[in-house]
Amino acid sequence: MSYPRSIRELVAERAAGKVSAAELSRHFLDRIAAHDETLNAMISGCADTARERAAALDAGGAADGPLAGLPIAHKDIFCTRGVRTSCGSRMLDNFVAPYDATVVERLAAAGTVTLGKTNMDEFAMGSSNETSFYGPVRNPWNTDYVPGGSSGGSAAAVAAGLVPAATGTDTGGSIRQPAALCGVTGIKPTYGRVSRYGMIAFASSLDQGGCFARSADDCAHVLQAMAGFDERDSTCVERDVPDYVGALGGQGDDFLKGMRVGLPKEYFAEGLDDASRKVIDAAIAEFQAQGAEIVEISLPHTELAVSTYYVLAPAEASSNLARFDGVRYGYRCENPVDLEDLYTRSRGEGFGREVQRRIMVGAYVLSAGYYDAYYLKAQKTRRLIARDFSDAFENVDLIAAPVTQAPAFKLGEKLDDPVSMYLNDVYTLPASLAGLPGMSVPAGFVDGLPVGLQLLAPWFEETRLLGAAHAYQQNTDWHTKRPAGFE
Ligand code: GLN
Repeated sequence: MSYPRSIRELVAERAAGKVSAAELSRHFLDRIAAHDETLNAMISGCADTARERAAALDAGGAADGPLAGLPIAHKDIFCTRGVRTSCGSRMLDNFVAPYDATVVERLAAAGTVTLGKTNMDEFAMGSSNETSFYGPVRNPWNTDYVPGGSSGGSAAAVAAGLVPAATGTDTGGSIRQPAALCGVTGIKPTYGRVSRYGMIAFASSLDQGGCFARSADDCAHVLQAMAGFDERDSTCVERDVPDYVGALGGQGDDFLKGMRVGLPKEYFAEGLDDASRKVIDAAIAEFQAQGAEIVEISLPHTELAVSTYYVLAPAEASSNLARFDGVRYGYRCENPVDLEDLYTRSRGEGFGREVQRRIMVGAYVLSAGYYDAYYLKAQKTRRLIARDFSDAFENVDLIAAPVTQAPAFKLGEKLDDPVSMYLNDVYTLPASLAGLPGMSVPAGFVDGLPVGLQLLAPWFEETRLLGAAHAYQQNTDWHTKRPAGFE
């Protein structure tokens, strides 16, 4: 069997009997076995259940679906019945969920075969995958570098061809940023498009599930199966899911013709590395060559995004993480002397430093006397940031920008400097605060490390977003490149 293949081809070949689900799973399980020792992209494998499921699909004993036989990996934030869900934390090192997340359930109903759970920053807090209890993930393009985070394992696994697709979550950039740093395509849908049921909560007003794959067309296939209303998530939006796959399949060469693409001047200002900028400029030139009209726009409150996010996300996290108390499930300290000791030591030993930092910041900004100055103020600045986008989308159809200021950094480089780690998220946080759909699309390299182009669309315009990325990928081959040693 030769690879790579698009998901469209894989599914068609399987349906035509040219390849079996068992062969597909074996191919990718072999790749995981060969490469994961180097990358550390997986936390838990489930090779045996994967083989059983693939065999059942081949025997016609399991429901077939549009993705029948497609191997997939899930970020370890999605609950999977029978397979450990650690969320990258010692706190949940022993946790096996009694149910599947809606995303997991829907992808299984579509016929996917789960090969394992991917590594991630602890409770999805981080931008480098270095806060994981299970150790850092390495970037397949250069193993001395970070893969980005928090969905670093999913991005690295797809980049290295360990799986054709993987799920992820994006609260402040955790799909777009690792997709950019690992040179794969990633989509964060509109907040509310994908159910959060069974997705361990970090910051509930921001968390959104999405996916990684090699191309926009691949992402469309996975998102198609994930998206849609779920009554078990009160913020999931009751709205029809468009035919993403059909739209891309029937898309003409002139998709970008006449499309107005806005470049926010605040994203091309000081801080953006020169070499990365050249890559982004070349990508924008391709949009122009395909007939897009490029216009400069302004998102004037961009500079408030980092401080707004790093008040709101920790505030929500401090509340969400209160449930991990060592009583019902998760890590429990040895020999507690009383209840206070049980809580204190279970949380002190079960959570890593970054998670503890967020809980403390969150508790502080929510406390009496500081609530108005921080939390309430941040809610207001969030509103201003969202309004910048709705104003901008009055005049443009799409926004294009860098995902990060520079390509991947070295392992350890920012570990002792949380503020510089936070500042790293400056281009991804605004769209998260506004709840907008966004993508990262491979656009080139700087010194052998990938650079991603960020595309943002108005709320629920995933079809347009995927369409634009697809049009770009029809005429470029950055998304087809594979890191040396992982061909
Ligand atoms: N890097 C950001 C943070 O640390 C975003 C993480 C995410 O999107 N889950 O909070």
